[in-house]
Amino acid sequence: MLPHPAKANVSALIALMRRYRHAEALQQSEAVGLDVAGAADAAERAALGDCRSLARWYLAGMEGRIQDGLTEAIAAVSRLTDAGWRDELGFAYGSIGFALGLSADFENGLQWLEQSIQDAQRRGDLAQLAGSLSHKGAVLAFADELEPAFDCFTRALEVAGPEPSVPRTKALNNLAYTLLARAAQPGHTDDERDQLARQALARAEMALAELAGVPAAARWRSWALSNQAAALALLGRKDEALLCFQAGLSLGKSNPRVHLELLVGCAALLLEKGVRVEAGKLLDEAAQDAGAGAPADATADRLIELQIQLAVLNGRSDEALKLSNRRFERSKDRYRSRLRTVRRHAELFANLERSRRANAQAFKRIRDLDERQTALQQQAHFWRSEAMRDPLTGVLNRRGLDQSAAPLLVPERPVGLALIDIDHFKVVNDRHGHAVGDRVLAETALLLSSVARSGYLLARLGGEEFCLLFEPLGARYADLMGEWARSTIALHPWERVAPGLDVTVSVGITTGTGDDKLQDLLARADLALYAAKAAGRNCVR
Ligand code: GH3
Ligand code: MG
Ligand code: MG
Repeated sequence: MLPHPAKANVSALIALMRRYRHAEALQQSEAVGLDVAGAADAAERAALGDCRSLARWYLAGMEGRIQDGLTEAIAAVSRLTDAGWRDELGFAYGSIGFALGLSADFENGLQWLEQSIQDAQRRGDLAQLAGSLSHKGAVLAFADELEPAFDCFTRALEVAGPEPSVPRTKALNNLAYTLLARAAQPGHTDDERDQLARQALARAEMALAELAGVPAAARWRSWALSNQAAALALLGRKDEALLCFQAGLSLGKSNPRVHLELLVGCAALLLEKGVRVEAGKLLDEAAQDAGAGAPADATADRLIELQIQLAVLNGRSDEALKLSNRRFERSKDRYRSRLRTVRRHAELFANLERSRRANAQAFKRIRDLDERQTALQQQAHFWRSEAMRDPLTGVLNRRGLDQSAAPLLVPERPVGLALIDIDHFKVVNDRHGHAVGDRVLAETALLLSSVARSGYLLARLGGEEFCLLFEPLGARYADLMGEWARSTIALHPWERVAPGLDVTVSVGITTGTGDDKLQDLLARADLALYAAKAAGRNCVR
């Protein structure tokens, strides 16, 4: 079943947007009431379904809806190109080529098919290759290029491999059909024509034998029977041919084009035998079917010829004259309509090119906007994180500490806080200069961050005061942490920074739980720090 077109389009749109990671994809799918959870897969399937539906469309094309198929195929090419889905493009090229060929725009059709063949070869896709070769052969045959058509079908048969399969049957039938068409061309000796007919018969019989094990193959079996019957008729084995035509007709109309050929072929044989009433019935049915569909030119011509013959045999000369005029008009119309089709296709392809360009521009604009947005987001992220950091030491500032503390302040979980203040820092500045003071601050921050485990927070709260927020991993952990910080600073070879420089810190420790406020923890640690200073500095309280 074809997907609902509007829905399929929206799905395809979503699939495209997903490819471009565009945020609106979700909104779009909600707007049309699509199942958002399944959208990713469904969109993918629907877009491919659009493309797959071409197969049905060009079969419909045989019934005269070629232009619909073509429009659909061209839309799919636009979408698939934008999405970068190369694998499906080859299939769409092939569909376009065949649809063009069916509507007698041979040159264009062959070009698209050649593109499809090359694509299939590049990707090593044998199924696609066999299909496209077979379509190319068919288009060549429509254009009366029977020998190149024969070569194409021979290649399709090779690609299809030795096992019985539908692609093999198709190739065999196509080969038989082409040989019959060649036999029907003027200028052959009787021997040459018989030889072509025998070759056609062999292939039709091979197709029938291979189809014996394939279930539900009425479509291909009736075609093989039609080819077999036509070959037998050419070889003068008319009774056998009649039986084959009748067997083919009994399989129904699963292939309208073949059914028409069976009706016409059968009627011709009956007429030869003088079974006029039966032949007339078949011709009436054929005329009705031909009116509803688009028969191959040769079949349509043969139908009218038989109708004329029957009218003459029945003594209805007025009707014969009318039919013969219609036949003349038909061949004039055929050329006129070919010209019209080619012109219409030129317009279609101009539209494809226009819409392809417009799409490309739109997508470029979306990509540019996405890139700009990402750049802005990165910049915003950068400034946000800058605002949280102290530029001199690179550690968090007070705001950064406030914003980052939450993961360490979990209710009921123990937490520890150390306030670390450089002793007599004013003296460091006074003796060694502000620049050395700055280096002492930066180096102290570095030393303290080597003390902190990952997940702990180190911040400079202002001046020469640092804070370490951590998770105490045992009863004396906080004290050890403080002592660790103190000794790391005290034991550092500061004279490397400036001769005679000596730096120590005093540390105030507090512990609590995540239920405490950061502010309260800081206030308690500050009291402890005050005590450490009062106790003579370079110690932990
Ligand atoms: P105490 O042992 O009692 O803590 O004495 P202290 O001198 O360390 O404390 P005080 O608060 O009296 O002096 C802090 C000094 O830190 C004053 C200020 O000039 C200096 N300071 C603050 N920020 C900076 C800075 O960014 N760079 C430098 N070089 N010095 C700073
Ligand atoms: Mg100080
Ligand atoms: Mg201080």
